[in-house]
Amino acid sequence: MTMPPRQAAFRADFRSLIAPAYAGWLHVAVIAVLGGAAIWVCARQISAPAWYEWLVIPFAFAVSNVFEWWLHRYVMHRPVRGLMGIYRRHTLAHHEFFTDAEPAFDSSRDFRIVFFPPYALVAFMAMSLVPAYVLGLFGLVNAGWLLLITNVGLYLNYELFHFCCHVKNDGIVRRIPLVNSIRRHHIAHHNPGIMMERNFNLTYPVADWFFGTSDLRCGLLKHVFNGYDTSAVHGDLKRRAR
Ligand SMILES: [Zn+2]
Ligand SMILES: [Zn+2]
Repeated sequence: MTMPPRQAAFRADFRSLIAPAYAGWLHVAVIAVLGGAAIWVCARQISAPAWYEWLVIPFAFAVSNVFEWWLHRYVMHRPVRGLMGIYRRHTLAHHEFFTDAEPAFDSSRDFRIVFFPPYALVAFMAMSLVPAYVLGLFGLVNAGWLLLITNVGLYLNYELFHFCCHVKNDGIVRRIPLVNSIRRHHIAHHNPGIMMERNFNLTYPVADWFFGTSDLRCGLLKHVFNGYDTSAVHGDLKRRAR
């Protein structure tokens, strides 16, 4: 597929507006160092957690997966008052820059439109402090730290997997289980014809399977380990014109 003229025009326009001083790998380093430092600091606070405190990890995983799906479906793709910046950045920029016809970035300067600004990580960390503090009030201090570690870890997981969705050469990522599944899943989401209604997960397509918003018609295990297979894609979605 060749790049639609509208996408090519958007790319040229967007790139002309990126500050000359912007450095893509520095952007990635800030996110990685910030996230890594937060995990390090939290891990040092943990001492002899009770067995049940570890249960916060699968719980946080499930809640984060639904949150990622909800945020993408109802905030990033809907003009919500007060959160218009997120809608503009995602639907009106990220989706114009990347389509299923050309889902790859060309250089590290394009990281500007791939990764969230670092303050998004700070905002998610601040949001996670609330339930962590409540766990602490109930005497589950270790569970609180484990919750913070899991949430920051999943955020870094999201940034890494989303990056893998948009790399040009898929020689490596197409062979990595889980990564190949979300790459196919997310590139399909970049089809403007289905972006408002399908494939909102960005790490593991669990919530999309659960809420019936996946473009696949199959079970959970197949969703997660589907890879590039398109045999389970809904027939009407396959046929839908762009
Ligand atoms: Zn994307
Ligand atoms: Zn989207």
